[in-house]
Amino acid sequence: MTTPQAPIRPDAAPKVGIVSLGCPKALVDSERIITRLRAEGYVLSGEYAGADLVIVNTCGFLDSARDESLEAIGEAIEANGKVIVTGCLGAEPEVIEAAHPKVLAVTGPHQYEDVMAAVHTHLAPPHDPHMHLLPASGLRLTPRHYAYLKISEGCNNRCSFCIIPKLRGDLVSRPIHHVLTEAEQLVKAGVKELLVISQDTSAYGLDVKYAPQMWKGEEYETRFLDLARGLGSLGVWTRMHYVYPYPSVDKIIPLMAEGLITPYLDIPFQHASGTVLKAMKRPAKQDKVLERIQNWRRDVPELAIRSTFIVGFPGETEEDFQTLLDFIKEAKIDRAGCFKYENVIHADSRALPDHVPEEVKEERWHRFMAAQAEISAARAAAQIGTTQDVIIDGPGEEVGTYLARSKADAPEVDGMVYLSSEKPLQAGDIVAAKINDANEYDLFGDAI
Ligand code: SF4
Repeated sequence: MTTPQAPIRPDAAPKVGIVSLGCPKALVDSERIITRLRAEGYVLSGEYAGADLVIVNTCGFLDSARDESLEAIGEAIEANGKVIVTGCLGAEPEVIEAAHPKVLAVTGPHQYEDVMAAVHTHLAPPHDPHMHLLPASGLRLTPRHYAYLKISEGCNNRCSFCIIPKLRGDLVSRPIHHVLTEAEQLVKAGVKELLVISQDTSAYGLDVKYAPQMWKGEEYETRFLDLARGLGSLGVWTRMHYVYPYPSVDKIIPLMAEGLITPYLDIPFQHASGTVLKAMKRPAKQDKVLERIQNWRRDVPELAIRSTFIVGFPGETEEDFQTLLDFIKEAKIDRAGCFKYENVIHADSRALPDHVPEEVKEERWHRFMAAQAEISAARAAAQIGTTQDVIIDGPGEEVGTYLARSKADAPEVDGMVYLSSEKPLQAGDIVAAKINDANEYDLFGDAI
């Protein structure tokens, strides 16, 4: 790392570039950093060349993400020269400093104060901060009509393949009245869809013993159900991401049936074989998961379930893999991401016996994707002829066409609805659409 020098004081407002890599949780960290920067009078630059300094928010989860982060740091150093690194990979400064000794400073995930201190050291803020220019909702990197809402940091679980608790520490829940107030400000600022994120959404509040707080004259406990109740009162789409199938999830199904919460659950099951789940040290029991999913679907037939899975985990046999395939077929997992097991540095699973050869992982991954494509295509075909609400993300390629999403599609990870409309539409509009065609992942329809 280089020795700090006297901070630059450019005549015009100092410009900071930001590169945000990784998951939505990292994106929320970047949004907090840019909100602070703008609050202090810094200007954001979309180009390396035009910036006085660049912040790279890194991801360190998988080896591929670590490589991508190191590459992005290298690019920023080459193009700009003044680079501050933060985010998950920042928890391992020695890795970054060994690859890029010229970085000005390295801070870990959600160390906003440290990032700002490093910025101040190398690029002084202007004298007159324009606090009053900032919207109450802060600044966001996502389009105006949807926003990620981070409810906690860290995780109390210790899944053997995951280094997040080592990088981000134990669960720290944000007080519920703060979360609900932020959500309300976002809605006032025009947000039509809230995406609730954390490492383990259903564990929300466990660390603060579900402390009760007052919000708008009513008591809310810092827990998943009360969070859903509060968010449901805001009248916008609300999606729950990273939910574990703990019994508490059953309680929010009635809120979905009432239309208060979007009928969508993102549950990272990771596997279905009891032996593999045990080796993974997954928090929730798999017993009766199928039965519970069936009950959820009975009460909320339009429920869409998204999940992620790992194939080729150490010790996974052909029989375990078959159990997984049977599970996704029976549970009719609507959307699934599948990853081949990666032997992540510092993960406990590295020490497990019977690592699966790469070619077997590859072959299982293809079989998984083929099975999932069939489930997904059947689901999409069943939507033909239905009428459903869709949210507009923006214009399509041709005049009168729009990119939209149904309640079953989260932004960036799920499918799209390609919509035609005679009436002009804006991003964030929610309109009824008649679905008249489908492919494996996407739907096609007309606004009515
Ligand atoms: S629940 Fe498991 S996989 Fe998810 S962040 Fe916590 S330890 Fe990692």
